[in-house]
Amino acid sequence: MNLELSEEQEAVRRLAADFVAREVAPYATAWDRAEEVDRGIVKKLGDVGFLGLTVPEEYGGSGGDHLAYCLVTEELGRGDSSVRGIVSVSLGLVAKTVAAWGSEEQKREWLPRLCSGEAVGCFGLTEPGTGSDAGNLATRAVRDGDAYVIDGAKMFITNGTWAEGVLLFARTNDTPGPKGVSAFLVPADAPGLTRRPVHGKLGLRGQATAELVLEGVRVPASAMLGPEGKGFSVAMSGLAKGRMSVAAGCVGIAQAALDAAVRYAGEREQFGKSIASYQLVQELISDIAVDVDAARLLTWRVADLIDRGQDFATAASKAKLYASEAAVRCANNALQVFGGYGYIDEYPVGKLLRDARVMTLYEGTSQIQKLIIGRALTGVSAF
Ligand code: FAD
Repeated sequence: MNLELSEEQEAVRRLAADFVAREVAPYATAWDRAEEVDRGIVKKLGDVGFLGLTVPEEYGGSGGDHLAYCLVTEELGRGDSSVRGIVSVSLGLVAKTVAAWGSEEQKREWLPRLCSGEAVGCFGLTEPGTGSDAGNLATRAVRDGDAYVIDGAKMFITNGTWAEGVLLFARTNDTPGPKGVSAFLVPADAPGLTRRPVHGKLGLRGQATAELVLEGVRVPASAMLGPEGKGFSVAMSGLAKGRMSVAAGCVGIAQAALDAAVRYAGEREQFGKSIASYQLVQELISDIAVDVDAARLLTWRVADLIDRGQDFATAASKAKLYASEAAVRCANNALQVFGGYGYIDEYPVGKLLRDARVMTLYEGTSQIQKLIIGRALTGVSAF
């Protein structure tokens, strides 16, 4: 693996860093306090090409390889994880899954709008009763002539109150477990689909997280994405790449924690000296720095494997597991460097810690990542 960025990748990274400095970082605290990111950011993300990265240009994407996607995701995560999540879900989980599994008609209908930011996508897998055990989801889609009628509920859906399109997973036959699941592209304004915002989150407070309730939602049979009964494979293929995106976002959090800790340690004096001169403070900072590098290298490795067309799913689980736990550690160590000031939101590190915490939970908890890695190594499924 070549660890040097190409000129093109470096240019994308700089573009993302400038975008974050101008359009994201100055507003992140206010959005966090208001529990709402300004919706105008979606169009800006579309205009700069970040919502179409790695999607072929013929469908409105901006091309780019997966390392470039990681670089952009890292910069967005450094600025505000709520904004990073918009891209990770609308592009990473929805548009890329439509590009991989969609019919020509589905790609033409959804991809240009998702890539431009005219439409936002959300990924409806988790239900009130099934999180880690997503293959046993209960939402049902029953065939009725040339349509399906969907009933059920989805929980914790990122972009849920904003989205124009839902990539929704529902049971289409009575086979228990993953084999009975199919995927559908459902317009969010379909009659019978109700969305309720989820408030009171510990972190990602600016993000539009929703509960979706589906009562007799009717979609044409052509709304099915991928073959009937293959919906769980559709979901898992999206999540495998999605884990790389979460890991890249975590690298961004960890890097932000490092930058903030180094800056503050240099400015703050106690006992007549800069706190940066104390060995125990340097230990906190060096622990963060090692975590940043390790998390970044694991994440870039996933991008490299994808771009070379190799198996990447286990590497993605390793990167997601390590980077998410590292982001929590890094933000916590940075908060320690800030002392009491780290505990109030005039300073950035408390938000970093709150935002990092969910990364060990969604797109497969840390325990689930360990089971995936353990299954790959032993050949035995412990699920
Ligand atoms: P549970 O599955 O009930 O797990 C509870 C605990 O049990 C965890 O510690 C877990 O690790 C452990 N556990 C469960 N099974 C095992 C096992 N076999 N072995 C060992 N330990 C186990 N979902 C979507 O579909 N789309 C989204 O866009 C989305 N966005 C989210 C945004 C936020 C802010 C949050 C909080 C969640 C989001 N989720 C989304 C849902 C998320 O993916 C789930 O919360 C996650 O998969 C865990 O499911 P659960 O919360 O039901 O926990």
